[in-house]
Amino acid sequence: MTRAGADMLHFDVMDMHYVPNLTIGPLVLRSLKRHGITLPVDVHLMVSPVDELIQLFAEAGADYITFHPEASLHVHRSLSLARELGVKCGLVLNPGTSSHCLDPVLHLLDMVLVMSVNPGFPAQAFLPSSLNTVREVRKKIDTAGLNVRLEIDGGISAKTIASARDAGADTFVAGSAIFGESDYQVAIDAMRHALA
Ligand code: ZN
Repeated sequence: MTRAGADMLHFDVMDMHYVPNLTIGPLVLRSLKRHGITLPVDVHLMVSPVDELIQLFAEAGADYITFHPEASLHVHRSLSLARELGVKCGLVLNPGTSSHCLDPVLHLLDMVLVMSVNPGFPAQAFLPSSLNTVREVRKKIDTAGLNVRLEIDGGISAKTIASARDAGADTFVAGSAIFGESDYQVAIDAMRHALA
């Protein structure tokens, strides 16, 4: 991924509880960090509860940790925990989650991640309604004058990435669009070209 031109590594963590699928844990991240990866790592927790894994992923070297607000009983406490651990933190909005849940904690966020599919499975089709959520969040961030990344995740490809950028996203997660191609660099270049 580093050689192919990615700016960041996105880690999808699923627990077979918050989502009906199971992926990787903090030991994998720690091993990659020890192996010498230098790209910033963006950990997307699709788990419930979140606090213990925030701690473990922060210790494993995560740069960003995001979680779903409905997966934490105490969102403000979970965000404060991440900040105390020195990791950048954010909230994730599912296609069925209102952006209003950001309002009380916007000042605590380094990132908002808008899901453009429902979480849990790869290779799902991009949901265009998520662009409305991106626009709403962009407006909140700009109105508050905050420096918050606005990331989009799900069905992002050379076909969909420009519409996400036009709606206000500045950080793009691509899975199948890259890993479905034999040459990862060609896939990443095609997305950069679509944004140019
Ligand atoms: Zn993700």
